[in-house]
Order: sequence, then C-alpha cells, then structure tokens
Amino acid sequence: MFNSLNAQPVDKIMALMQMYREDPRDNKIDLGVGVYKNAQGVTPVMRAVKAAEKVLWDIESTKSYTGLAGDPAYSNALSGLVLGDAKDNTRLSMAAQPGGTGAIHQAVELIKMANPGATIWLSAPTWPNHPSIIKHLGMTMAEYRYFDNATRAVDFDGMIEDLKGVKAGDAVLLHGCCHNPTGANLNFEQWKEVAALLEAKGAIPFIDIAYQGFGDGLEEDVAGVRLIAQAVPEVMIAASCSKNFGIYRERTGLLMTLSANADQAGITQQNLTHLNRQNFSFPPDHGARLVTMILEDDGLKADWMAELEEVRLGMLSLRQQLADELRSRTNSDRFGFIAEHRGMFSRLGATPEQVEKMRVDYGIYMVGDSRLNIAGLNKDTVPVLAEAIVAAGV
Ligand code: PMP
Repeated sequence: MFNSLNAQPVDKIMALMQMYREDPRDNKIDLGVGVYKNAQGVTPVMRAVKAAEKVLWDIESTKSYTGLAGDPAYSNALSGLVLGDAKDNTRLSMAAQPGGTGAIHQAVELIKMANPGATIWLSAPTWPNHPSIIKHLGMTMAEYRYFDNATRAVDFDGMIEDLKGVKAGDAVLLHGCCHNPTGANLNFEQWKEVAALLEAKGAIPFIDIAYQGFGDGLEEDVAGVRLIAQAVPEVMIAASCSKNFGIYRERTGLLMTLSANADQAGITQQNLTHLNRQNFSFPPDHGARLVTMILEDDGLKADWMAELEEVRLGMLSLRQQLADELRSRTNSDRFGFIAEHRGMFSRLGATPEQVEKMRVDYGIYMVGDSRLNIAGLNKDTVPVLAEAIVAAGV
C-alpha cells in the first residue's frame, strides 16, 4: 500500500534550519525559523509559565480527560483576552485545539461541513501552512493582493479591489495582527473598510491571531479582531498561545466562532465538539491549564504582561536600530518600513539571489522570500545584517 504514496515537498523553513545547523561558521545568524529568541539567542520559558507550572504540580490531582471542547475555563479566559468588550457570549462557540495550526485546520473543516463550495481567500503572501491545509482538505482557495513590494506596505487598494470579488458564504482569512510573513498590517480605518465590505458581501471573516502582544500591545493588537466581531454576524477566529505565552510545544490554541444568533451558536458548538471528537477526541490540556491559571490570577497575569511587553519592546528597538543603521549606510529612508512593520517578521523585498548572497557571504539565514525574524537579531548582529543588506544590493 505505502508504495503508492508520493514524496512530499520539503518544508523550506525546515530545510533552511538544517543548512544553518550544518554551517560551521560561528558568526552565522539565524533569522529563519519563527520562534521568539532573546538577546542571548534563547527561547525562554516565561516567568509566569514557570510559576504556574510549579503551582500546578502541587494542586493537580488528576490527569483524566477534560471535556471534548476542552476546559470551559480556558475558552472563557482566552476568548476574554482576545475579544474583551466585544465578547458576545450568546453568539460565541468555542473548542480548544492543539495550537493555532489545529484551530486553523478545524476552522477549514467547519467551512467544509457548512459550505463545501465556499472559496477561502488568502492574502498574497500568507503563512504557507494556510494554503497547504486548505489544499489538504480539498477546499477551493483564491488570493487577494496584500503586500506592495515597492513600498513594503499593504496594497490596500489592491486588497479591496480583489475582495470585491468575494461571494456570499466565502471565507476571507485575515491575520489579526503582525502579518506573517510580511510584517505589514492594516490600520484601524482599513479594518473598518474590510469589515464593511465583508458584511455587505455576506462573507465570513476567518481571523488567524497568533501574535497578540507582539505588535503594538495586547489590546491594540486585537482592535481589528474586536471591530470585526462587532460588525459582522458570522466570524471565525483561530487563536494561538504558542508565541505570546512562549509555550510552542504545549500545543495550545482555541477556535472561536460567532454565529448570527444564540440558537445557531448552540448548533455551531455541537459541530465544533463533533469535529474535535473525529480528529483527536480531547484536546491537549497542559498549556491550556497554564494559560487559564495565568489569566485568572492577577499576580501571574501582571508578571506575564510585563514580560510580554519586554519582548515586544525589545523587538521594536531592534527594528528601529536596523532602520537607523540602514538609513546611515544608504543615506536614504528606503528601509524605514522596517521600523513601521510589526511583530516578529519583516519581508525585506530582496530577490532570492540577494537572500542567497547574504547567506553565502555573511552566514545570514532568512527565508527565501526574504522574510526575516527580527527576534533572531541582537544589538551586535544588527550592524552585520545592515552591512549584508547593502552589500547584497537590496
Ligand atoms: N498562524 C500564523 C500566522 C503563524 O505564524 C503561526 C505560527 N507559526 C500559527 C498560526 C500557529 O502556530 P501554532 O500552531 O504553533 O500555535
């Protein structure tokens, strides 16, 4: 049977990580993989997570199953963090998922159950897992323009023009904040326009929020999500705790849906629970429990927020340092976008040849589309990257 299987394409980021590991140069710089790293190049366990784990060890009395949709306290706490005042419990259905990826996968399955003929619209570019999951589940997809390679900002006119082609019942995938891979984001006015357009079209916003707290702040980063939640009757939100709680391997995510009314929300909930049952029965609990403990305890929450803010400000200062270095080296403002982008990533707009040159000549590893992970830098490596960017003729 297995001899009928086809080989799968190599994951480009995994291949890049492998090349990085095999590079003998000790001044090599890894700007590839999408995990946060501090100035020492370490992805730390956050203080509040460690503290919660200690308490949990003492108080956890069973590891029996939770509910099929996970622990309601977790869904409540995390949906509160994401939706805040826009949380409408009467329309909300939720199911815990193994990571943001699990939530995205489950959301696509839900679309498939509800409307198998729907088209799922993706930004060009987007996180490569989006199209690969949609393709795997046999759904149709289309692209809308998003990134303007000349300005390295959002091509908003192009985006709106393309989204005018959306049909009722289609789903439109939007990055809640900190767009991956570009770092270019919608402003609040633009979110309003997108919300009005999708509402008028009868399309369903499908928001992937994986970096809340990494951009402009915990509240600021979900302003668009909350606006959509209040403006559009049916919404899907896939949230991940991997980055903002630093619990990547604990697989902690949540799928939330807003239905048009309370009756429909009840049926949607049954379908979310059914999908969990088919895919894995009970979702993982350890990460979800830590998140719940942190969000429900004022002291732990304050410490988590303080550490997250240090992470956010650290990345912003690296962005500013890099933009300043490039300004003084090029005597121009053409790299000013690096300080404007938000989150862990920026798309530099370099050609594959320039990306390759930076790897060969400087040992700088970024993804082939010139996405660089700002958190892979530190004060000392920023000038090296700036030199490489200029030398490669970007
Ligand atoms: N969405 C985006 C845009 C991401 O970048 C990521 C992480 N790379 C995720 C979702 C989900 O991450 P995880 O499954 O690790 O929670």
